[in-house]
Amino acid sequence: MGGGGRGGGGMAGQDREMLRLGAIRKTYAVGPVKTEVLRGVDLTVARGDMLSMMGPSGCGKSTLMNVVGLLDRPTSGAYSFAGQEVTELDDDALSAIRNLKIGFVFQTFNLLPRLTAAENVGLPLVYRGLAEKEIRERARAGLQRLGMDDCADRRPSALSGGQQQRVAIARALVGEPDLILADEPTGSLDAETGRDIMQLLIRLNAEQGLTIIVVTHDLAVDQLCPRRTRIRDGVLQEQDAA
Ligand code: ADP
Ligand code: MG
Repeated sequence: MGGGGRGGGGMAGQDREMLRLGAIRKTYAVGPVKTEVLRGVDLTVARGDMLSMMGPSGCGKSTLMNVVGLLDRPTSGAYSFAGQEVTELDDDALSAIRNLKIGFVFQTFNLLPRLTAAENVGLPLVYRGLAEKEIRERARAGLQRLGMDDCADRRPSALSGGQQQRVAIARALVGEPDLILADEPTGSLDAETGRDIMQLLIRLNAEQGLTIIVVTHDLAVDQLCPRRTRIRDGVLQEQDAA
């Protein structure tokens, strides 16, 4: 439960691969109208990568995030997650992988208003069926790790936006996931608070080797990511290092 020692050195090939998308397509049909949002996305993410996916509103960022996060299925294409082909799995199997291996961070934090910060952080462990005492302890430790111990008993409405996002990040981390997916994590924050949140994600990546994908339409956020990609015309393009 220590959290450290992820992605240790020396592993080769498959073991270092977090996920791989091949020719992913996603088409939405609304009545007779078909919208081709993703038109053949290829992407390989290694364990320990931190990358942006940037593009303008409506380009398909959340659509791609939902596919990567096993919340939605592509119309076609191949998806290998942690060495396992996932396109053929049923919903229960996808949920199980999601709950164990992926942590989500959203633009609007998505905290439950009636729960305290600590209870929100513990929620993924409730879904895992862990004992109440262990959940409480791990939630507290998670908040402490992000410098948020003082806020443990407060409800979201008593927290600032930056504090709420830290609680949401603690919730994303509490299950010790392999991958963090952050969809516009700074989109509801002022520039300075947004930078703080990005610095926090960068630190988690650098110090713990956590694999992080940040979806954004904000160039300032994109430029803080060690690896940068663009979604353009339904495909993903790698950006050269700055
Ligand atoms: P982004 O996150 O980059 O703003 P989205 O992935 O949310 O973009 O949306 C991409 C496109 O797909 C938009 O044109 C949007 O209207 C459309 N879209 C998204 N979800 C659905 C859906 N469930 N049904 C139909 N169209 C959708
Ligand atoms: Mg979006």
